[in-house]
This record gives sequence, structure tokens and C-alpha cells, in this order.
Amino acid sequence: MSKNYRAELTGVFGDPVDGNPSGVMEEAGYEALGLNYRYITMKVTKDGFPDAMKAVRALNMRGVNLTMPHKIAVLPWLDELSQAAEIIGAVNTVVVREDGTLFGENTDGKGFVEALERAGESVEGRRVTILGAGGAARAIAVECALAGAVKVTIVNRTLSRAEELAALIREKTPAQGEALAWESRIAVPADTDILVNATPVGLAPDSDALPEIDYDTVTDRMVASDVVFNPSRTRFLEEAGKRGAKTVSGLGMLACQGARNFTLWTGKEAPLEIMEDKLREEFAGE
Ligand code: NDP
Repeated sequence: MSKNYRAELTGVFGDPVDGNPSGVMEEAGYEALGLNYRYITMKVTKDGFPDAMKAVRALNMRGVNLTMPHKIAVLPWLDELSQAAEIIGAVNTVVVREDGTLFGENTDGKGFVEALERAGESVEGRRVTILGAGGAARAIAVECALAGAVKVTIVNRTLSRAEELAALIREKTPAQGEALAWESRIAVPADTDILVNATPVGLAPDSDALPEIDYDTVTDRMVASDVVFNPSRTRFLEEAGKRGAKTVSGLGMLACQGARNFTLWTGKEAPLEIMEDKLREEFAGE
């Protein structure tokens, strides 16, 4: 039998993209399963994006992740979207199907919900309060609402963005959506079950930074979860943990969304723990 020396190609398009750690975890997964797949981290500018999307087909790629500034720009290139990606209005994962058509998914929010489930927490019937109204907040809000959260409250510095996201939740999902202006040291709504930091506050190298909320309103019946994955134990999680809240790190969310991408591209169950350990190892020295 002749050997196959051709690698299956996946990767990420973004700008800036140098600090994106996805390749480390995806390639650890490919290696663990003995798959001849590669994940390439590629700088693709806004101007270069149309050519890069043509290259996805020309190079017979299996799929790509998209990060800033391409998550919305990719929409016209896709043949089909998942329900969540359609509501969110942004795609972070493109899959090239057998027939050459392009499918768009958003795995960020699904990764968030799955990381909570791995920690023994379901969003079903719960009230979720999200700090931030950007891309990550949008994906988390929509997936929580689709997974059965009864209420999603968005707290954001720019109130209009919180209002827009809350309206999206009310109109496109069965959950209630509410917006709050983020005033300094804002109290966490008392009915919150799951509190999420979906801002970049606390991300290395500014790991001393702390989202400005009144931590004394966090209680031991809340779950606190962060999107920031480096460091994995953020000050936000530390402070919430001190008040008795159960904490779930952004590293788990990153690994879970990466595992979903892996399965979408390879059709195989992802070695989630190996991928998560690799990420942990990657950030350990920082
Ligand atoms: P965006 O730029 O789209 O949104 C950022 C949000 O944070 C906005 O709502 C912004 O408020 C708010 N914000 C920014 N700085 C502050 C501040 N100092 N105080 C209060 N609010 C602030 O970013 P993304 O949503 O794409 O990403 C957010 C974070 O999520 C990043 O750190 C990213 O790395 C992480 N992430 C993690 C993932 C994971 O798997 N763990 C997946 C995806 C993202 P305003 O609207 O007022 O400007």
C-alpha cells in the first residue's frame, strides 16, 4: 500500500493572532490520536481575508478558526450556519464538508456551557449574570439561553451594547434578557446563580486587574466563571472563591471549545484532557 504523506490542514486566521494558543492544544490532540493533521496559526489582515477564504478551498483545508477581526466578515462566505451561530451573528469555526460546502459554527458559548457541566453545574433553570457585552459575552449569553437558562442579565460599561444583547436574548431565545449599566463596584444581582466575567480584565500581563464589582455581594450559592484563561486562576475567581462561590476557569472553556472544533474537523472524539493539560502546561511558566 502506498504511503500518504499529505497532511490535513486546519488553523486560525486572525490579526493580531501571534498570542493565540489554540494550535498548541489542537496539535496535542492530533498527535495523541496519531492523526496526520496540522494546525497553523496564520496572520490574515482584513484586506487579505477574501484571498485567505479562497485558499481554504484551494488548499483543501479541513477547516479554520476565526478570530479578530474576521468572525463577522466570514458570514457571506458560508453555505450554512448552526442555529447558535445564526443568532450570535458570528462564527469562530468553519468546517469544509465532504461536498466542499462551508459550515459555520460558534463553539465559544458551547465550550462555556460544557466547562460548567464538567464542573457539575447545569445552566438549565438558572439565572446567569454576564459582565461584558462583546463577542465572548454574546456567544455565552445565547448558548446559556438556548441551553435552558431562565434569565440572562448583561452588565456592561457601554449600556447600549448591553441593551442590544439583552434584546437579542428576549427576541431570539426563550429566556428573559435584562441589561444593566456597569457602575463602579456594582452589586451582583441577588438572584444570580452563575456569574461570568466575559471581559478581558485580568488577562496576563495585567493579571492584577479585577473587574470592578462589589465582591461582598457574591455569595456561596453562586458559581463564578471567567473567560480569561491566562492565568487560569484569575483574581476575579480568587475574590469570588473567597466569598464561597464555586469557581470555573476560562481554561476549561477554551479546552472544551477546542475539543468541539477538533471533532468537527476530524469526526473523532477529542482527547479533551490531553488538550487541556497541554494548555495548562503552556501557561504554567508565565
Ligand atoms: P470584545 O472586545 O468583543 O469585548 C470586550 C468586552 O469587555 C466589552 O463588553 C467591553 O465593554 C468590556 N471591557 C473591556 N475592558 C473593560 C474594563 N476595563 N472594564 C469593564 N469592561 C471592560 O472581546 P471578546 O468578547 O472577544 O473577548 C473578551 C475576553 O474573552 C478576551 O480576554 C478573550 O481572550 C476571552 N475569550 C476567551 C475564550 C475562552 O475560550 N476562554 C473564548 C473567547 C474569548 P465595552 O462594550 O463598554 O467596551
